[in-house]
Amino acid sequence: MKELFIKDILNEQYIGKKITIKGWIYRKRELKENIFIVLRDSTGIIQCVAKKENFSEKDWKDLLDLQIEGSIEISGILRKEERAPEGYEIEVSNFKIFDKGSPFPLHGREEISTIMKYRHLYIRTRKQNAIMKLKSNLLKYLREELEKLGYIEVNPPIIIPVAVEEVQTLFSLDYFGKKAYLTQSSQLYLEALIFSLEKVYCLAPSFRAEKSRTRRHLHEFWHLEIEAAWYKLNDLINETEKYLKKVLERVIENDKKLLEFLGRDLKPLKNAIEKDWQRIKYEEAIEILQKKGLKIEYGNDLGADEEKVLTLEFEVPIFVTHYPRKLKAFYMKESGNGKTVENFDLLAPEGYGEIIGGSEREDNYDILLNKIKEWNLPVENYKWYLDLRKYGSVPHSGWGLGVERLLMWICKLDHIRETLPFPRLRETEILV
Ligand code: ATP
Ligand code: MN
Repeated sequence: MKELFIKDILNEQYIGKKITIKGWIYRKRELKENIFIVLRDSTGIIQCVAKKENFSEKDWKDLLDLQIEGSIEISGILRKEERAPEGYEIEVSNFKIFDKGSPFPLHGREEISTIMKYRHLYIRTRKQNAIMKLKSNLLKYLREELEKLGYIEVNPPIIIPVAVEEVQTLFSLDYFGKKAYLTQSSQLYLEALIFSLEKVYCLAPSFRAEKSRTRRHLHEFWHLEIEAAWYKLNDLINETEKYLKKVLERVIENDKKLLEFLGRDLKPLKNAIEKDWQRIKYEEAIEILQKKGLKIEYGNDLGADEEKVLTLEFEVPIFVTHYPRKLKAFYMKESGNGKTVENFDLLAPEGYGEIIGGSEREDNYDILLNKIKEWNLPVENYKWYLDLRKYGSVPHSGWGLGVERLLMWICKLDHIRETLPFPRLRETEILV
């Protein structure tokens, strides 16, 4: 195992002391009398210098043979060195090579096809390292802040018998001779669970065979979903704004360094923490878009382009509420004499667009039954779901948040594939 990590030694305490550190070769520069190695581990990088005069011919040759990403243990004295990347340097006295490595196929300017082919190696980059750490922390904050609000974590199944969202995006599988599907959302199960636990959440992968290829759609993504009994749409919106502000505050407090490493401008995140979020009805959103010259009418869905224009209008996240009923799922509660539904999409600023879809759910048995029929869904499959409106139905609301979508905005990434080590995208074969 390993006792010292690079981040631990980058401080005054170790100056002048002999330390031993394990890691991989990040960069290497060979001069006549010196070899400079930048060593990398999970926590950072440090420059090491080996002087020829201190090594046997064999050792020197081994150091020369070391490849980028070769693995090594280095011992030596730590000292301050302003010219080194982190301001410190180790003067190597001994080393032990674990694997000298082979010519590394990635140098940093590869085409995306090469990166996807070598994804298992690409995830060693410092950028990926920072994103994965941020994601780990983000997941922790998302969970903990829900727990503080009284939500209980539950684990609904991934293999399901019926569609939750559009049937066209279902992945099917053979379940002992019968067709079953990979879940697109755990919502229906969460609804069943609120009658016991009142406030529940789950964090699980969702699967969608999206037809269009975009920068923000994966076929497998991490879906954080909540459902709360007794919540009306407004209760949900108010709580969601406070909740996500708290999550963002924790990101800024604890992960500033990672964000700065990624070159993230913190201002938009700070705006989202400090200012009131925008709330507009779908109808108003259409008017804004029309004024901006977009060809869109009441009844059209808002796609990535429309969402982008809207988010550039405001510097905070936007709740777009009350979409026309036909644009949204059958389970959403109707309002406006059946013209609209009690829903919201939460759009992230800076062009990012939808990160959450939420709504109050239809809690009336007859209305729900009629909608299931109107949506041409097989009523027998939804019998259990309808039962929930028969045995003590209550108003309730919930949402689904795309963890990668949120992370993509927080880190200001160009493409959602950067938010996962092994993204599932149609344009790239599953190699790893
Ligand atoms: P979109 O219109 O962007 O496809 P959606 O309306 O299908 O989203 P919902 O069904 O409301 O989305 O799902 C809830 C959340 O899950 C979305 O707000 C988004 O953050 C996330 N999400 C949905 N589909 C995907 C996907 N294919 N890849 C990544 N995240 C997704
Ligand atoms: Mn979708």
